[in-house]
Amino acid sequence: MFTDSHCHLTFPEFADQMPQIRAAMAAAKVDRALCICTKLEEFDDVQALAASYDNFWASVGVHPDNEDIAEPTVEELVRLSARPRVVAIGETGLDYYQMEERKGGRSIADMEWQRDRFRVHIRAAQQTRKPLIIHTRDASADTLAILKEEGEDGAGRAAGGVFHCFTETAEVARAALDLGFYISFSGILTFKKAQDLRDVAAFVPLDRMLIETDSPYLAPVPYRGKTNNPSYVPFVAQQIAELRQMPVEDIAKATSDNFETLFREVKS
Ligand SMILES: [Zn+2]
Ligand SMILES: [Zn+2]
Repeated sequence: MFTDSHCHLTFPEFADQMPQIRAAMAAAKVDRALCICTKLEEFDDVQALAASYDNFWASVGVHPDNEDIAEPTVEELVRLSARPRVVAIGETGLDYYQMEERKGGRSIADMEWQRDRFRVHIRAAQQTRKPLIIHTRDASADTLAILKEEGEDGAGRAAGGVFHCFTETAEVARAALDLGFYISFSGILTFKKAQDLRDVAAFVPLDRMLIETDSPYLAPVPYRGKTNNPSYVPFVAQQIAELRQMPVEDIAKATSDNFETLFREVKS
């Protein structure tokens, strides 16, 4: 019934946990999960996991926060994305959050390497016709500008994709929707202080919305602070159902249908 559109099941938190996680998913009616790659060094594990189960899929990409790792080229992303079960490019994007603490006091101007890496992913997505999984934090203006510069206008050669773990404003959501992108909401939606985000989730059209856990991070209430896993994605759906005064089954169906529409290859 439910689909977790973004999780990191190869992270060390889940070592040897797959039988338990899959049992919990089945009990919670979470039928499918997209396993996200954050660096090329982890891709073999992500792809192997997706190849092991008929309801898991994989992405290939390098997260904007990762440094001191192999830098991807368009050619390499295109080549790796041809492996079985790989249906998306990412996660990729820009992250300017807490530059002082997290980026050693470097400036946004110093982040050209992030922007270059993002462009590489966009070009690979356009070549392969696989959608982008976009991570953007404190960097929405540059994220939208680069997508536009690279031809992501919802038409022609555009790859499209999803803004994952959305935490931006309604204006940013509108701009992303206008470029043809989907918006994915995580457990943050259930946090007490996230009223602004709940307002955004009430506004995003149901046919352009996905849900995710971003496991192992961001467990929804009532598991906030614990290790997240895909079996908790119904709590995100439940929150959206309450906001929109709809049955949770309708949210599950819409977001699962959207998952199939966006990541076309999960159907074949
Ligand atoms: Zn992310
Ligand atoms: Zn992620």
